[in-house]
Amino acid sequence: MLKDALGRQLKDLRLSLTDRCNFRCMFCMPPEKEFHFLPREELLSFEEMRFVVEALAELGIRKVRLTGGEPLLRRHIDKLVRMLSSVEGIKDIALTTNGFNLKEKAALLKDSGLKRVTVSVQSLKEEVYEKIAGRKVNIKELIEGIEEAIRVGLNPVKVNTTVVKGMNDDEVVDIARFFKDMGVTVRFIEYMDVGTLTEWDMDKVVSGKEIIERINSEMPLEAIESEDKSEVSKRYRYIDNGVEVGVITSITEPFCGGCSRIRLAADGKLYTCLFAQEGFDIKSLVRKGIDKEDLKELIKDIWTSRRDRYSEERFSRRRKTNKKVEMFRVGG
Ligand code: SAM
Ligand code: SF4
Ligand code: SF4
Repeated sequence: MLKDALGRQLKDLRLSLTDRCNFRCMFCMPPEKEFHFLPREELLSFEEMRFVVEALAELGIRKVRLTGGEPLLRRHIDKLVRMLSSVEGIKDIALTTNGFNLKEKAALLKDSGLKRVTVSVQSLKEEVYEKIAGRKVNIKELIEGIEEAIRVGLNPVKVNTTVVKGMNDDEVVDIARFFKDMGVTVRFIEYMDVGTLTEWDMDKVVSGKEIIERINSEMPLEAIESEDKSEVSKRYRYIDNGVEVGVITSITEPFCGGCSRIRLAADGKLYTCLFAQEGFDIKSLVRKGIDKEDLKELIKDIWTSRRDRYSEERFSRRRKTNKKVEMFRVGG
């Protein structure tokens, strides 16, 4: 069991498959900004990813979540899922996606060994979605993708909604009701100050507490006590049908104390925090042929000296940093 300097165990990997995306969400990759995506050869290959995942699995990682950027844009992602499912020790492979083309891909991904999927749904109104995502989004197809994921047996299928005041916060109850009726858990995420490109400011954050109060006033909820310290979401269930809903309160009630995640970015750098300024360049070592035992030693050093707790320190920082890694690169 590998613990960091603050006693947090290494448990999960977030693996970013690409920094590219076919959406331009205003809270992640605002359309007015210019992006320089990584050239193909800078991305880790599937073989390289498997090598690092093998080392991490030997250090205790059991769960891998594929993310990005938009992970479904990475060609032959099903092949990668298959390769990772055969790594000894890996018990759970999940995916976070904007849902584009999920309907076509869900069955193959399930057959390849994917267990769970989280689909981001930012609005149920096309005109609002277009403002958020910087492009037209066909909501009917998005929902059909979620239905298909459920049908093929991905379990659980969850929804993420990032809430931005003045953008989609007036839809919180409608989104909650829609997915409650579908039997799908939604997690409402507080708008975070990730990366350096968004126009984040505290006035655009709606607190998890307020989100829960709004839902509870229409559809009564009860809190679920979680024993898992690394659980990021505060969980509730509807009293009438038992479906769960949650909030991820990185801003108003940070949860760094239970943070058990390591992140491998699309460019092959290893990060120990979503808000990190620097990553560790694992890719060049892998390309130079580092031995797996040496890689494990290096990762051990990185994890055991980890002291990150950005969200807990956010408002006490004397100096605002403008050198944070972008979320679409490190893997959201
Ligand atoms: N493209 C995929 C997607 O959108 O699901 C995976 C990557 S995306 C970075 C992962 C999650 O991060 C999405 O659910 C998105 O809503 C959320 N997200 C992105 N930027 C955010 C921000 N500034 N604050 C809170 N959540 C954010
Ligand atoms: Fe793309 Fe996901 Fe970022 Fe939106 S949140 S721009 S879908 S990576
Ligand atoms: Fe983990 Fe960093 Fe988020 Fe805190 S701010 S929960 S350390 S990723």
